[in-house]
This record gives sequence, C-alpha cells and structure tokens, in this order.
Amino acid sequence: VAGKRKGISICGQPKKNGLPCRRSPGWGTDHEGTGACKFHGGQTPNGAVVAAQEEAGAMSRPLEVTPTQAVTGVLHLAAGQLAYVTYKVGELDEADYFEGEEGNRWVRLQGRLMDRLATFAKTAADMGIQERQVKLAEAQTMMIGKLISNVIGRLDLTPEQRKAVGPAIREEMAVIAGKATEVE
Ligand SMILES: [Zn+2]
Repeated sequence: VAGKRKGISICGQPKKNGLPCRRSPGWGTDHEGTGACKFHGGQTPNGAVVAAQEEAGAMSRPLEVTPTQAVTGVLHLAAGQLAYVTYKVGELDEADYFEGEEGNRWVRLQGRLMDRLATFAKTAADMGIQERQVKLAEAQTMMIGKLISNVIGRLDLTPEQRKAVGPAIREEMAVIAGKATEVE
C-alpha cells in the first residue's frame, strides 16, 4: 500500500517485472509528492484518496481525544455537512433532481450523509449507554465499600479480627471478579 511508504521518495508500486517503480510519488497526477504515479493507480479515485491519506499521515500530529469526543466530533461534522447539502438541494428545481443517470449529485450526497449521520448517531447513543453503565458500576462500588465499612464499624471486633477484614475482602473481591470474567 502506498500509504505505508512514508519517507520514501518513489512511487514504489510494483512494476510488471516485480521491481518497485522509481518514479517520484504522484508523478503525472494532481497530487505530486504523495501516492502512486499516474501509471500505477495514482490517478484512480482510490489512488487519490490513498495519496491524501499519506499526506495526512505525514503532516499531522496525534490528537488526544476520548472516544466520545471523537464520535461527537464526526457527528457534528456530518450534521453540518448535511445542513449545507440540504440547503443546496433546496435550491434545485424539481426537474434537476433526476438529471444524469443516478440523479443529482446533491440529492445523492444528501442520502449518503443521512445514512452516515444515522450511523454516527447510533454509535454515539450506544456509547452514552456504556458511559452511564460505568458510572452506575462506580456508584455501586462506592456504596458497597461504604456498606462494608459501616458494618465493620458496628461490630465489636478484636484487633486480630480487624486485621483479617482487609485480606478477606480482597479474597472475596478476587473470587467475584473471577466469576465476572468467566461470564464475559
Ligand atoms: Zn509508478
């Protein structure tokens, strides 16, 4: 894959004789400097995307986001795009809807963005549920901890028994955790 050749200044795609192509990346295409040359798929739609991916990989720095932030970000981006595309569709005359073989490009793009937005929205919703479950589990753990310490406080334990409480809790927790893992 062209995207894996970061830092190598050749097209690098295998030629008919099996050797890597020595032309410069993106030679003869509109994305010179990245991706495959024009003779090795560089000018195909997919080749152009691979070149863009290669440039993004080389030019970008890692950005720390939580999964929720990432999904929310793409969700907002898709929603903004859909709003714009919907505006463009609104400007069309009805006769324009059916132009070309597959219909107007804005109408088609609108359908695609709607699907994409629905997918992102579902993912975001599923993640929200997970987050709530984690919070609930944390709250329950806190409650159990408080319960145990309150019960111990009420019992008139000897110092020796008190010492045994901590290890006993850890042992029992490990047993429960082991069972929880088995269920998964
Ligand atoms: Zn080439």
